[in-house]
Amino acid sequence: MEKKKVVIVGGGVSGLATAIYLRLNGYDTLLLEKNHVAGGACIGWERKGCYIDGCIHWLIGVNPKSPMYKLWEQTGALSPDVGVFYQDDFYTLDFGEGKSFTIWSDLNRLQAELIAFAPEDEKAIKKFCKLIKRFERIEAPSEKPVDIMNILDLLKIGLTMCGDYYYVSKTSKISCEDYSKNFKNPYVRRWIAEHMTADYNLMSFLYMLSHVTSNNGGIPEGGSLALVKRMEDKYASLGGKTRLRAYVERIDVENGTAVGVTLKGGEKISADWVVSTTPAEHTLKDLLGDAYKVKDFEFRFEDRVKYPIYTYTTAVIKVNADMSAAPLSHKVHVEDPVVLETEHRGITFRNYSYDKTLKAPDGNCVVQITVAGNDDMYFYWKKIKENGEYAEKKAAISKQLLEIYLRYYPELEGKVEIIDVITPMTYERYLNGRNGSFQGFVHTSKGKALMQNGRIKGLKNFIFSGQWVLRSGGLPPAVMTGKFAAQRICKKDGVKFRAE
Ligand SMILES: Cc1cc2nc3c(=O)[nH]c(=O)nc-3n(C[C@H](O)[C@H](O)[C@H](O)COP(=O)(O)OP(=O)(O)OC[C@H]3O[C@@H](n4cnc5c(N)ncnc54)[C@H](O)[C@@H]3O)c2cc1C
Repeated sequence: MEKKKVVIVGGGVSGLATAIYLRLNGYDTLLLEKNHVAGGACIGWERKGCYIDGCIHWLIGVNPKSPMYKLWEQTGALSPDVGVFYQDDFYTLDFGEGKSFTIWSDLNRLQAELIAFAPEDEKAIKKFCKLIKRFERIEAPSEKPVDIMNILDLLKIGLTMCGDYYYVSKTSKISCEDYSKNFKNPYVRRWIAEHMTADYNLMSFLYMLSHVTSNNGGIPEGGSLALVKRMEDKYASLGGKTRLRAYVERIDVENGTAVGVTLKGGEKISADWVVSTTPAEHTLKDLLGDAYKVKDFEFRFEDRVKYPIYTYTTAVIKVNADMSAAPLSHKVHVEDPVVLETEHRGITFRNYSYDKTLKAPDGNCVVQITVAGNDDMYFYWKKIKENGEYAEKKAAISKQLLEIYLRYYPELEGKVEIIDVITPMTYERYLNGRNGSFQGFVHTSKGKALMQNGRIKGLKNFIFSGQWVLRSGGLPPAVMTGKFAAQRICKKDGVKFRAE
């Protein structure tokens, strides 16, 4: 085959995966990333001698038996040599006044813990754990996208997933909040109801828990930065080209065909194919000048209630103490809320002592104190920034978060220092993500599941990839859509796709 040139916009996990799969199929690839490092939302950086991990809390597909593992292996992200940390305690919830329970990765232990905490809910707890067990058998189809499947593929997927379909479709339409009403215990109810954002769907919650209980969710050693570095190495070993600090300003279109891109500064790069892995809204509105409307996105852009985003405000602290005995993820509920437009009572302390390869100066470790939110949190910070009060407010909020942390760990008074503060404005600047999101549209119980086919009607030789085109976002959709983009291009060009 004559080598066709593909320009891939965005060097996150999806861009790297797209580029790797295309190189494996003989394409001449150029990956363009606006930041000074690749990785996008999957990133880590250093402050005051400490490594701060900016992403992986848990990765789906770490179990070598899982179909998703194949994708991680093919793209170099995981291999038998990469250690994976499996948490016994996924997280611990702490509602104050001794009301606390742990979400164990061992499902029997989790069931026993919940029944001991809320005996009045024994029946409902057993039913819930049975549902988690059922979800352990459900895997997102990662073989190829539906739009390029032939009749045999469709039959195969229909047969393997028909039993799952009932559970997936039913629980997708139930919100965690509504489901929580099956429980009498107010704390168990709060745990389920307050998972993620308002109206989060039960299916996604079960999907997450079932991957943890089936040993298919873990944290690769070295964290996010090391995972991306392995993918970059794999891409380089295949002879792929990358340009960092290459901000794409426009996708060039001639007669309804994408013909390349123009970088900030005016440099033009021609290509036979253009793949954009940048957030869908940025691609459509900024890179394509709002010239195309894609139905799948239009109604999502219009409706922030059904299609909210997910974002964080985080204070990162350096702790001069051994925290290895503290929970990795400690979720507390406070009576005095953190106010970021709306009131936030759920705060998470994430303690990075579990991985000794994560750098921190002698005797120190890193803890991240996080408040999660949606579009409202972004608009709050945006207004603060426009008013010129950003630095001052960041300092005040991080101080409040630290004070909350010290209430739970008073022995650390004088041993902690704030080393970084991350807000939705950080994510917006770094990723061009809609409303400071780092994870695509949240799949609510009233929203439709997103599975965009990568194409824009009326625009040839262009493919969308990345977390914004597949439901809920996250690293698995990023790598899957990268593979799918390469498969769609190969199919169109008559190239037999190979993944190894
Ligand atoms: C705090 C945090 C925790 C997370 N935890 C998890 C987790 O535990 N598990 C999980 O699965 N996922 C997690 N995620 C989500 C995960 O990081 C993302 O879903 C995933 O990295 C998205 O990859 P992507 O390549 O699709 O998009 P992105 O990472 O957004 O990549 C897009 C890239 O495009 C670049 N770009 C944008 N505009 C331009 C332009 N005009 N020109 C050139 N380049 C451009 C951006 O700089 C970026 O590098 C987390 C994310 C964060 C921030």
